[in-house]
Amino acid sequence: MKVLVVDDSVTMRRIIINSLKSSGYDDLVEAGDGIEALANMEGVELVLTDWNMPNMDGLTFVKELKQSDVYKDIPIIMITTEGGKGEVIEALKQGVNNYIVKPFDKDTLLDKVKKTISG
Ligand SMILES: [Mg+2]
Repeated sequence: MKVLVVDDSVTMRRIIINSLKSSGYDDLVEAGDGIEALANMEGVELVLTDWNMPNMDGLTFVKELKQSDVYKDIPIIMITTEGGKGEVIEALKQGVNNYIVKPFDKDTLLDKVKKTISG
């Protein structure tokens, strides 16, 4: 399964990617903001995206995907420090399938990924 990891923090991308790799996910692509992410969507089957990023934030990126005939059905997990209920509700309203609040542990991440891709 091809997974796209979007975060402006290289460290955070490493943490997420290493967690996924340790659980057997080996087709991983990464992007540093929404614009870069949109340019790397080819074949992607699951998106994990940060909220706060320069150039194009995660919520705008999600809206772009949802407006795309090609990408609108790809499951999305929002990873954010915005733990406030308002932000979570907004993300879900825009079509995010699941969300993870930072800081998170590896088990939480993998559990949410598993739940999201199993529908
Ligand atoms: Mg960020």
